[in-house]
Amino acid sequence: MLQQQVQDQNQTSTSFLSIPRYSFSLLNPSVYYYNVAPGNNSKLIIATIQKRKNWQESDNYLLHFQWNMNDNYFRYTTLSQSKIQIVNHLPNHRELTMKCNLIKNLKQFCQSNKRYVWDITPLSFTIDLYAKEKDLDKVLKEFTPIYEQFKPSNNKKNPINLPFKSNNQYIQPKMHRSFLDEENNYIWILKPNEFNRGRGISFFRTIEELKILLKKFTQGTSEYQFSQGQIKSSSFVIQKYIQRPFLLDGRKFDIRLWVLVTHKFDIYIFNQGYARLSSEMFDLTQLDAFIHLTNNAVQKHSKNYGFFEQGNQISYSELDYYTNGEFTKSVLPKIKSIIVFSWMTIQHTFKKIKYSFEIFGYDFMLDENLKPWLIEINTNPCLEESSPLLKELIPKMIDHAFKIVIDPLFTKIQEPTDWDHLLQL
Ligand code: ADP
Repeated sequence: MLQQQVQDQNQTSTSFLSIPRYSFSLLNPSVYYYNVAPGNNSKLIIATIQKRKNWQESDNYLLHFQWNMNDNYFRYTTLSQSKIQIVNHLPNHRELTMKCNLIKNLKQFCQSNKRYVWDITPLSFTIDLYAKEKDLDKVLKEFTPIYEQFKPSNNKKNPINLPFKSNNQYIQPKMHRSFLDEENNYIWILKPNEFNRGRGISFFRTIEELKILLKKFTQGTSEYQFSQGQIKSSSFVIQKYIQRPFLLDGRKFDIRLWVLVTHKFDIYIFNQGYARLSSEMFDLTQLDAFIHLTNNAVQKHSKNYGFFEQGNQISYSELDYYTNGEFTKSVLPKIKSIIVFSWMTIQHTFKKIKYSFEIFGYDFMLDENLKPWLIEINTNPCLEESSPLLKELIPKMIDHAFKIVIDPLFTKIQEPTDWDHLLQL
């Protein structure tokens, strides 16, 4: 999802606009020009590029490298016309990084390739309301049979006929046991499409609660505790809540991994990532954000933030400790195959624009049986070095990404990195 997009939209930015091609010849040919827009630890990006020889910051339009939190100002079609130019986003990343698009693409691809989509990501329902009351009623009418079918009290009764065509068997909802618990709690999660960092994420147990939430978000609300601005949205993902997560000392967590994709459709995964833990003991009777949302942007407001571990973050080796080595041995390989799978869903629309690349933040949760579930794919993942662990990982992750995507273009130097090449699609 579009991290920090809202603030960034108000920012002006240098861009590769339609500049006459010959203009580059007016510049010093032995210098490479870059521009890094502010935000999301941009000073780290600047420091990483300045470590390299012959790079100079510029506010000019004539840039060899541009880094921005979003790609609103990039003109992909005119890139590299006269000189090598590279930008830090892929043109159609939104196909995976917008919550609704990810679900849509996973569903479509699974259906045509005979894979069961709700084995990869939690059972989800996308809605687009355009803020019209009558659409809201229509959507609720479509979602209600799904909601009803999986209500614990209805589980053993006759299944309701769901409004799916019979040939849609690969998206036909089934309820995995990780989504219901023995106490018969019944929780769904609502996610506004355009927001991130936990903003607007809400829980509901009944259709009435869902209706109230949808009305609030379509009209716009400032009530949400972790957002400074208003939250207004007309499209959402409704997703089944993972009620039996794997817990670390009784607390919930998710896993953040970095994935680098180049314009050649090479996919790399950084060989280290981290788990983000909540500050409170897991408890389904209380729908408190500090218990259920593991985003750093949420947890940093908790009175217990950093009490159990610095920045509420732990490394892969600590995850291995908690899982008797299963994380590296069996979970990571499954996660890698889901990452590759996610890109296969948009392989037919992928645009190989020279030169573009992107670093994505993948979020996974593990259920009580250590089965990984894809939660979301972030553009502009948080680069704040909010713990000693991230101070160690993030600068290296960025530097090694530049060794793959920038250095070979400008210096022809290719060095080994901590990014593992998964494959080229
Ligand atoms: P955002 O873009 O706001 O970070 P996410 O979809 O990543 O939205 O959700 C935020 C957090 O909510 C996740 O980090 C995770 O802790 C929790 N979460 C999201 N989806 C689920 C789910 N289906 N079941 C359980 N927890 C979830």
